[in-house]
Amino acid sequence: MLNAVNTRMAQHPFLSRRTIPALIVILASGVLMILGGIMAYQDNQTRQQHMIANELQLVNQLQIQGIEAWRRARIVDANAVMMDPLFSDAVAQWRLASQTPADDASALQAAIQDKLRFLSEQAGYSEAYLLSPSGDMLLTAGQRNYPPLPPVGQQALRQAIQDARPIAIDPQTGPAFAYPWFGMIAPVYENNTIVAAVWLVMDVRNSLFPLLETWPSPSNTAESTLVMQEHDSARILSPLRHQPQAKLNFRASQALVQSPMVQAIHGMRGLFTGIDYRQHSVLAVAAPVAESPWYLISKIDTEEAWDARWRGTWHIAVPIIGGLLCILLALGYTQHQAWRYERRLKALLEQQVRHDTLTQLANRLALDERFEQNWRQTAYQRQPLSALMVDVDHFKAYNDYFGHIAGDQCLKQVAGILTSVVRRSTDMVSRYGGEEFVILLPNTSLAEAHILAQDICQTVFDAAIPHPFSQHEKRVTVSIGIACLTPEERPAKRNANDMRKALLERADAALYAAKSAGRNQAQ
Ligand code: GH3
Ligand code: MG
Ligand code: MG
Repeated sequence: MLNAVNTRMAQHPFLSRRTIPALIVILASGVLMILGGIMAYQDNQTRQQHMIANELQLVNQLQIQGIEAWRRARIVDANAVMMDPLFSDAVAQWRLASQTPADDASALQAAIQDKLRFLSEQAGYSEAYLLSPSGDMLLTAGQRNYPPLPPVGQQALRQAIQDARPIAIDPQTGPAFAYPWFGMIAPVYENNTIVAAVWLVMDVRNSLFPLLETWPSPSNTAESTLVMQEHDSARILSPLRHQPQAKLNFRASQALVQSPMVQAIHGMRGLFTGIDYRQHSVLAVAAPVAESPWYLISKIDTEEAWDARWRGTWHIAVPIIGGLLCILLALGYTQHQAWRYERRLKALLEQQVRHDTLTQLANRLALDERFEQNWRQTAYQRQPLSALMVDVDHFKAYNDYFGHIAGDQCLKQVAGILTSVVRRSTDMVSRYGGEEFVILLPNTSLAEAHILAQDICQTVFDAAIPHPFSQHEKRVTVSIGIACLTPEERPAKRNANDMRKALLERADAALYAAKSAGRNQAQ
């Protein structure tokens, strides 16, 4: 029994044979679930990242195609003006005629104005002007309302004449027109001689800018911006969604190295991150617009991209929470097992400490405790308290003949007989030591105790346990000493301990008397 307790105590309560497999299974499934959750999360994260990057790139690409087509159409228009021989002829003749006041130039002028009107009405230009090679206003389609050619226009004109091809004027805001405009300067030649130029003006608010507003999914922060390099900074060519009042020549300066616009003009392509003009962290895509100095930047706030990334992640939370629950369950289960083990161990120790391991009878400690309890009770109730001291006769000889193991068996048999004869639940049979037993009998007089003792002697005798070396009966017998404390005997100042000693001394003396009187009897 003691070994069993020791062995069990040596084991860790958390890791008993019963808990280990369950624990391993639950922990393993918990860990697997968490791993699965993490993998699913990472997978989802990369998928979402790719999705957002793809979406941005796709939008950027589509918008660039639109912008390129729009620009090509402007160049085609300007080329058409430049290559129109009828128009060149008319301009050359009209210019010549207007130098000689006699000639009637009005028919020619009307033809030229028709052409200019056709450009503004049919091709969607808000203005079309005929300029002299030096940049002076000559004619317009409608009324004589000539704005001066701004410096960018002068520069474009010089370039157009030098290259003999139409030159674009990048989107401008300025005093010339009340709206942001894009211009084309087309030189007009007659017999390889420059005779004039046409300045086409287009309102970009309803032609170019709408091309930047196509987004496949609704977004609060997604935005595309056209920029171009100007000196060492990025000049913004299209309105900013979050700063609609900002002028088109708003510049993202060199100092804003993290600005996606500055990064784009410094050669950044594809998907990258930056901090935009609102100081928001953004995911951006930048690509050049072919045959132009323009770059298109499409961007979305990182925060919104993250939100989108989390939108599909609820199913990832399930395995993670499930895994955590499993681990909690495992810990709870183990703790419960540990508590149960502790309770059982305590009960076992409790029983161990008050019981005799061979016979399972109460031991001396239990006897002492019970005596104190009985002593108080009987004194209070003014009842007698008796004790029997039972000793196996010639037990040494029994041991010598049969050996100790058989001796132990015999002691167990005797213990069984004692408990079977003593039936009152208030009585206690204990092993006092060796082959001696003490039976405590509360509320029992000496006479009653004597009857019980005789009963015991007789029952042991009747059990006829062979004992060839017993000097008397050739079977196992017991001798019993009887003692009794009556309430009258209760002295005022003696404590329970002293009374127990006194009772047992008396029982021992009576036992000695029983032995002397020939054994197998009670005295
Ligand atoms: P008596 O009739 O005078 O009581 O003679 P006895 O031989 O019984 O008395 P004694 O005190 O000489 O011997 C008691 C013997 O009991 C000695 C010991 O070997 C034996 N004994 C004591 N405890 C145990 C035990 O737990 N198991 C076994 N097998 N024998 C025990
Ligand atoms: Mg003895
Ligand atoms: Mg004996």
